[in-house]
Amino acid sequence: MLYRMDSKNKGFNTICTHSGEILDKQFKGAISPIYLSTSYAFEDVDIKRYPRYFNTPNQEALCKKIAQLEKGETSLIFGSGMAAISTSLLAFLNKGDHAVLQRSLYGGTANLVSEEFEKYGIEYSFVDSQCVDGFNEKIKDTTKVIYIETPSNPLLTIIDIKAISNLANQKGIITMIDNTFASPVNQNPIELGIDIVIHSATKYLGGHSDILAGAVVSKEEHINKIFQLAKNLGGSLSDFTVWMLERSIKTLGLRVKEQNKNALEIATWLENHKDVSSVYYPGLRSHPDHKIAKEQMKGFGGMLSFELKNGLNAAVFQKELKLIKSSMSLAGVESTILSPAVTSHALLPKEERERQGIRDGLLRLSVGIEEKEDIINDIEQALQKIKALQPEY
Ligand code: PLP
Repeated sequence: MLYRMDSKNKGFNTICTHSGEILDKQFKGAISPIYLSTSYAFEDVDIKRYPRYFNTPNQEALCKKIAQLEKGETSLIFGSGMAAISTSLLAFLNKGDHAVLQRSLYGGTANLVSEEFEKYGIEYSFVDSQCVDGFNEKIKDTTKVIYIETPSNPLLTIIDIKAISNLANQKGIITMIDNTFASPVNQNPIELGIDIVIHSATKYLGGHSDILAGAVVSKEEHINKIFQLAKNLGGSLSDFTVWMLERSIKTLGLRVKEQNKNALEIATWLENHKDVSSVYYPGLRSHPDHKIAKEQMKGFGGMLSFELKNGLNAAVFQKELKLIKSSMSLAGVESTILSPAVTSHALLPKEERERQGIRDGLLRLSVGIEEKEDIINDIEQALQKIKALQPEY
């Protein structure tokens, strides 16, 4: 028996801790051994283990864990979130096919579509609206994939996952979701009818800002199709990083539940702060999509965005923060902040950014697991500093 135990029907934290662990038969160690071999003797002619075939012992073990966390049949682990996204999309889209995608996607995904699809002869339409009718209007006879990301980056808008999967099922269209922002702790889209769930495992699955990885979860049939392309494209993850990711996921439930709790309290505090003009967090009753978020999410996540009152300079505020670091990435155990207008969405023209509601002063906060009082005190001291620097305010 290769694996320690199958926790398939156990609780979330038990799956995080135990599923897919490799049994150390020889020394009876507590954790999975790492198999770094790139060459394996044939067990039989059908099993040729090789890292780029996504089938080393550590890769297979981690796939079990991630599939169980997302309630899917099986999964594949990739060298980055973008490798997972590009391979999944291209596996289901051929020349002449059409894809319907949400407009407010992670920038790398939007770039993949707008910079690469044309050369493969793949057509696409972006949907500006969040509602199912907006997606329906863009569907053509050749539409093969609907792709969504909810909660979205950076305004945390929510799409009704069940409504999208019902629409796609009726028309025989494959649905894909980037579930990175929610993480499997807060949202399991396969239970809501989605076919393929994708993660940048660099974010919550890794959680310590030291791993670049991606994951795709689905039925065997779909994963097989993605695998056929994946082995040709070659985007697998090194076994050492696979092992680190397995270890990181052991605390996924604990980390994300703490981040949910902190984010809700900080969002509520910010909403009541006299120097803050708006807060975007799906857990707040004031969020326009709060009702759908409550129906389809188990927690509201660790990401929130906010704007300071007119006249307070967001860039200076960011510089005055001491505990919260300015950083491009997100979802680590440490709190980080960025300004989407000068980072993740800098390539969009200002008018397009503003049309999407991303104003220059918007700040996106990735809430960590520090004590919430320390995060709040850091924000408060930075606000006091900039108010002292801007006496006219
Ligand atoms: N999806 C989302 C929502 C992201 O935020 C990111 C990266 O920031 C990606 C996908 C891409 O993941 P990676 O950087 O692991 O390739």
